[in-house]
Amino acid sequence: MSDIRDDARASFTETFGGEALGVWSAPGRVNLIGEHTDYNEGFVLPFAINRRTVVALGLRSDTVIRVASAYTDEVAEIALAELTPDRLQGWSAYPLGVAWALGEFGADLAAVPGVDIFIDSDVPVGAGLSSSAAIESAVAIALNDVWQLGLTREALARVGQHAENTAVGAPTGIMDQSASLLGKPDCAVFLDCRSLDAEIIDLGFAAAGLAIVVMDTGVSHSHATGGYVDRRTSCERGAREMGVESLRCLDADDLPRAQEILDEVTFRRVRHVITENQRVLDTVRTLREQGAAAIGGLLDASHRSMRDDFEISVPELDLAVETANANGAIGARMTGGGFGGAAIALMPEASVSLLQVALDGAFAEHGYSPPDTFVVTASMGAVREP
Ligand code: ADP
Ligand code: MG
Repeated sequence: MSDIRDDARASFTETFGGEALGVWSAPGRVNLIGEHTDYNEGFVLPFAINRRTVVALGLRSDTVIRVASAYTDEVAEIALAELTPDRLQGWSAYPLGVAWALGEFGADLAAVPGVDIFIDSDVPVGAGLSSSAAIESAVAIALNDVWQLGLTREALARVGQHAENTAVGAPTGIMDQSASLLGKPDCAVFLDCRSLDAEIIDLGFAAAGLAIVVMDTGVSHSHATGGYVDRRTSCERGAREMGVESLRCLDADDLPRAQEILDEVTFRRVRHVITENQRVLDTVRTLREQGAAAIGGLLDASHRSMRDDFEISVPELDLAVETANANGAIGARMTGGGFGGAAIALMPEASVSLLQVALDGAFAEHGYSPPDTFVVTASMGAVREP
């Protein structure tokens, strides 16, 4: 961690000259359970991870914003007054979109000082660990501080989501930004995506000797297109035909009626959301009453529901989950939007290295490149670094 922070400071000086005023950071996230429930106004249970995006920021004497990142050579620059979603594109739409969205949330972009921002990160991009929320949240908390906006973390989460929806054009929910801004060590963020109430839930993984292993398949996904949008559309159709505002309004008792009136595919999409919401509630209750070692079956059921009902898994994710369960995992599931990215396994710390060997073997046998496998711990949300 201290190394990316130092790198960001050094790269700031190299790119822009002078010293950065300060460094802020925000984590990526793993969603423990509750997939594709956020935009259905349901429940999610993500946690912030020990992989972070770091922002080194300096004030300018004019009203220009410049952003650079270790991820790319392109330095983007625009006058704050000229920030509009249609002028933003590529990676810089994330940080510049946040600056624009802060304007929509009350910042006077004609009055605030210009800034230079250098971004560095050890959150893998496009792996389902939400590098997008990490960059949004890091920039949002930094600008909120230096522009003295006084927005709450909940408001900053909405700022990040607004940037991603409108400036980037990806129709994502608010889960990722909430985890990145509200996370606490060894805790998850239990978020009701209808009321936006967030509750911090003890995971107790450390005390139980359990680790979450991320198995990044390296298969790439795109949230902005294709399957993700198609699944959202199916959920909207399901809710409309069931006569409710969102699928959150339904529970297991509504399944027989759903099966009767919905087409077969839409029914399975709806069944995933209904049962997944229940699994989130069951996971929170189980964590409280029985502890982390008892949630494995819920993780496994979540994966099956995504594989069979929501149909957002891919063979590489299924193989990672099966291999984990055959090698000591208590439970495992794909995480994130799907169509690639990563799966997670909850397992005794002592079994992690065996799993890594087993995964390499299983993936080689199927002719897939080996997954990038690493342990994540539930960590602190966005902070100003000392
Ligand atoms: P995920 O959030 O799962 O990692 P997304 O497709 O939602 O994947 O977001 C990834 C995009 O966010 C990248 O393609 C890039 O445009 C932007 N991004 C994320 N992290 C950085 C970074 N450190 N520097 C520059 N751009 C980044
Ligand atoms: Mg993302």
